[in-house]
Amino acid sequence: MPVQKIATSAIIIGAGPAGAGTSFFLSKSGIPHIVIDKDKFPRDKVCGDACSGKTVLVLNRANPAWMEEINSRRDIFLPSWGITFNAPNGKGINIPFTPQWSKEMKPAGFTVTRFVFDDFLFRKMESPYARIFEEAKIDNIKTSDTGVSIQVTCGSVEYEITAPMIVGADGDKSLVRKTLLNNNTSAKTYAVGLRAYYEGITWPNEDQFIELHFLEETLPGYFWIFPLPNGMANIGVGIPSDVVRSKKINLREQMLAAIKNNPAIAPRFANATLKGKIQGWGLPMAGEKEVLSGNNFMLTGDAAALIDPFSGEGIGNALYSGMLAAEAIQKCREQNDYSAATLKREYDDVLYKRLGNEFRISNTLQRLSRRKWLFNAVINKAHKSPALRDTISSMFADMDLRSQLRKPSFYFRILFNK
Ligand SMILES: Cc1cc2nc3c(=O)[nH]c(=O)nc-3n(C[C@H](O)[C@H](O)[C@H](O)COP(=O)(O)OP(=O)(O)OC[C@H]3O[C@@H](n4cnc5c(N)ncnc54)[C@H](O)[C@@H]3O)c2cc1C
Repeated sequence: MPVQKIATSAIIIGAGPAGAGTSFFLSKSGIPHIVIDKDKFPRDKVCGDACSGKTVLVLNRANPAWMEEINSRRDIFLPSWGITFNAPNGKGINIPFTPQWSKEMKPAGFTVTRFVFDDFLFRKMESPYARIFEEAKIDNIKTSDTGVSIQVTCGSVEYEITAPMIVGADGDKSLVRKTLLNNNTSAKTYAVGLRAYYEGITWPNEDQFIELHFLEETLPGYFWIFPLPNGMANIGVGIPSDVVRSKKINLREQMLAAIKNNPAIAPRFANATLKGKIQGWGLPMAGEKEVLSGNNFMLTGDAAALIDPFSGEGIGNALYSGMLAAEAIQKCREQNDYSAATLKREYDDVLYKRLGNEFRISNTLQRLSRRKWLFNAVINKAHKSPALRDTISSMFADMDLRSQLRKPSFYFRILFNK
């Protein structure tokens, strides 16, 4: 059968949050593009299933009706109002995402299984400007002076697709990254995580905040309990790979031991049932300034290693980087220039200007959280001080305030009541 040739303005590899985010904003600008995924949707993705304010922000920018839909479908999307931090000494603090909150307000975030959420995003890509290939195999990616050419097999048909630009939105094991980003095949900081679904765990109160348990044995990573609709919960553990290697940690054993023996956790699982398998996957964490693009290509989401190094959140950053990638493509089209220098200016520099401070703060927090005593001391103080809890709560929305977390003086004042 002859190879079918298609020319388009942009090729996106991967239809997860990063690819969908890119597609939404290309369609908004009327830019024709092709999205290719190796899987058929709906499909699972190992994740904690917690979506933060950045996910809400990008979806609202793409189409405010989508957030209305999410907020009205409590059967599959559970609103999220805050977070509980539990220190290694077992003490916990509840921090709402906004200091004065009520369930009448629009929630700052939500939880939803990735099986449901990624399919929701996938269906929203439908547009006259987007052509989508599922269950497609990429046989080859080549760049030339005029752009990119890829060979794809989908069903029994072979395609040769050409475009001036390719977006790598193909996740942690990105083929685009491996093929086009010379000498740079993986994130500098890396974590590994396990995820399990449980039914029937109990909750300390009806607020059902998402819970991070910084157990002594998981530091600087954490064990999480995230509520989902219909009495389900997403349970997992994520730890930096260097710590897993150096301490020879068996993640699965550690997670099951916490569920069985930890005095703050085990009683809540007394009548709970594991649903399905415990599964693992990698988390490529954001550095402070990495290369994210080159001649005729950009990397987004996990392919660009944009997961928050402290919280482990990557869905919001994947969508956000997709939005910025689409804006950069529009600028490149206006200038008819897809060179590495232009992409660095229009994409890498813009992304680090917007997210760089967040990454710096989270990298600092990740380093500090290796110190158990400091963690215990801060949570102890916050436990006693409503004012400190309000400050931490305000940090979710206020970046200037959050910058305080990088300063030793912040911890000095907390520890010594200055
Ligand atoms: C254990 C764990 C827990 C996590 N918990 C959270 C959390 O609670 N909240 C949060 O915000 N983030 C969390 N993350 C991070 C989050 O899952 C990722 O950051 C997010 O999925 C990144 O989105 P993406 O679109 O870049 O990549 P992905 O979601 O991985 O999507 C990539 C897509 O590309 C496709 N693809 C891959 N290779 C190819 C190929 N060769 N050809 C065609 N298609 C291809 C895949 O099929 C997939 O659909 C967690 C991660 C892990 C591992």
